[in-house]
Amino acid sequence: MTLRIDWQPTVRAGTLFASAAVLAACMSVPLTASASTQTTQPAAAPAAPAVPQGPFQLPALPYAYDALSGVIDAQTMELHHQRHHGAQVTGLNTALANAPQLAGLSLEQLLARSSTLPPAIRNNAGGHWNHSVFWTIMAPEGARGEVSPALMAAITRDFGSLDGLRDQFRAASMNRFGSGWSWVVVGADGRLVVGSTPNQDNPLMDDSPLHGTPILGSDVWEHAYYLRYQNRRAAYVDAWWSLVNWGEVSRRYEAAVAGGAS
Ligand code: MN
Repeated sequence: MTLRIDWQPTVRAGTLFASAAVLAACMSVPLTASASTQTTQPAAAPAAPAVPQGPFQLPALPYAYDALSGVIDAQTMELHHQRHHGAQVTGLNTALANAPQLAGLSLEQLLARSSTLPPAIRNNAGGHWNHSVFWTIMAPEGARGEVSPALMAAITRDFGSLDGLRDQFRAASMNRFGSGWSWVVVGADGRLVVGSTPNQDNPLMDDSPLHGTPILGSDVWEHAYYLRYQNRRAAYVDAWWSLVNWGEVSRRYEAAVAGGAS
């Protein structure tokens, strides 16, 4: 008997499961009953509930899945983007379909009233915003730009140096117990602040203790790094710093101090 094996790993929350095809092959079990023994048609599957296609969409990555593979492997990037972020977009659209009073609000408007939102909308809105920014503030080598003079002046003022900022950011990433994000934000007084938020919260949420306009954020959920780094969050955090797209972070900083939304 020859079985064709399709290797289709299904990964959720950092756990690998072999596909049914592989398991069946290992056990020498036919995948389907032969024609002679299949006497009844399978019952039609119940119709899946319609998945709203909007109003929010999964943005395309601005680079290939393997473009950051010196630090983050392609499989992690694809799963993180398509499965994790994709599920948040779907979850947000599905939850909003049952909340007509929120129709037409932008993602930022939803976050600004997070304290009033049901958990499914709050968490998925946060996740959609966080990941959408995360993809753009990383870049492949050669496309990371430079820290602008204005941002460097603010970093020097508030942290002493770029290394000082990196050290505080690293500490925030390591001190976040469990899942969450670490951030650099422009606070209400215009100064830069480093901190972290739990789960999919972010500094735009009205009830976030860390409040301000994020210019840089890093995902420290295990799904962001587990395939390559396993439990070694510090190794991921240190390597991640080399991916920062300083051109985009500088653009976000200048938009924030100008008072414009970004
Ligand atoms: Mn994530």
